[in-house]
Amino acid sequence: MEFVPFETVAYPALLVPEKPSPETSVGITSTVPIEIIFASGYIPVDLNNIFITDEDPTHLVERAETSGLPRNNCAWIKGIYSSVKKLGMKKVIGVAEGDCSNTFALMEVLAAEGVEVIPFKYPHSPKAEQAELLLKSLNGLVSALGGQSTSGRLHEAEKVKKEFDRIRSLVHEIDRLTWQEGKVTGEENHIWNVSTSDMMGNPSLFEKKARAFLEEVRERGSLPGGIKIGFIGVPPICGGLYGFLEELGVRVVFNEIQRQFSMPYPTSTLLEQYLLYTYPYDTQGRVEDIRHEIKRRGIQGLIHYVQSFCYRNMYDTIFRKTLGVPILTLECDRPGGIDGQLRTRIEAFVEMLRKKEIPH
Ligand code: SF4
Repeated sequence: MEFVPFETVAYPALLVPEKPSPETSVGITSTVPIEIIFASGYIPVDLNNIFITDEDPTHLVERAETSGLPRNNCAWIKGIYSSVKKLGMKKVIGVAEGDCSNTFALMEVLAAEGVEVIPFKYPHSPKAEQAELLLKSLNGLVSALGGQSTSGRLHEAEKVKKEFDRIRSLVHEIDRLTWQEGKVTGEENHIWNVSTSDMMGNPSLFEKKARAFLEEVRERGSLPGGIKIGFIGVPPICGGLYGFLEELGVRVVFNEIQRQFSMPYPTSTLLEQYLLYTYPYDTQGRVEDIRHEIKRRGIQGLIHYVQSFCYRNMYDTIFRKTLGVPILTLECDRPGGIDGQLRTRIEAFVEMLRKKEIPH
């Protein structure tokens, strides 16, 4: 799939695997150790990206509702369900600990309908026990994907990690060029970071595209300055947010969860890498990461995106108490553009940030 600039599309044009084969692919519902999937001879397919880049994602949500999934349920879940059906996926890895109960229930629904569901756990345990339990999860995933000798296969996955460190560093550079040199838009940043979850199912093609993008970006001038904001929370289901913010003279210089998908910290092992990945654990790690990036990137305000019917919405109260910058909480339910009410709220927030900039 070719990269499409954001101006031409309602939804972010993610880099997604082309025509995944149900025989050789494994669907993923959230970021999991893809190094193990590749080392086991399978191709990971991030079902969130397949859903949101579908030519008609709203239809996928409705199709899941017609099949019996409740209207008052997260639309990402319904999109994932229909994407599994549409692609005819035979194997799906579901995060059984470290994600939401909706995912957990979805895995039961899919299993009841004949899909092989492989559970993966990010342990929520005291720090002392966490490493041991996560190592058990990594080995469990190796066995579930057919590894005879788990230690041998994990060793192979560590070699894949080394290769991916190099590819991920290209995305880290794209991220740096976003906030430090103003050469990458917030939406481009979102696309590259979020696409690291499965690397298009083709890491060498992904690397080639990332190198070509970096070359193109280095030739660009810097984008006009503006109010610097960050996005925190799960990736938005609605399109047009980034473009609208840019129209208002706002630059999105931080996409919190998407950046986490790119494994932004230097690590030596898979265990270390997935222990530092903040998304599946408690909010303390996320708060520390966001506070650090607010300071480093000069962020003046945050948009906390919350998905309708998601338990993570409750974290809003923690973020408001701990992050120390103005926060606008935006909620969307299903795919589509941003409506008049959301636009008005965003405009008012930007106006407030602009007034704060003027010295008294
Ligand atoms: S947005 Fe929330 S409810 Fe929906 S899949 Fe993600 S964590 Fe689960």
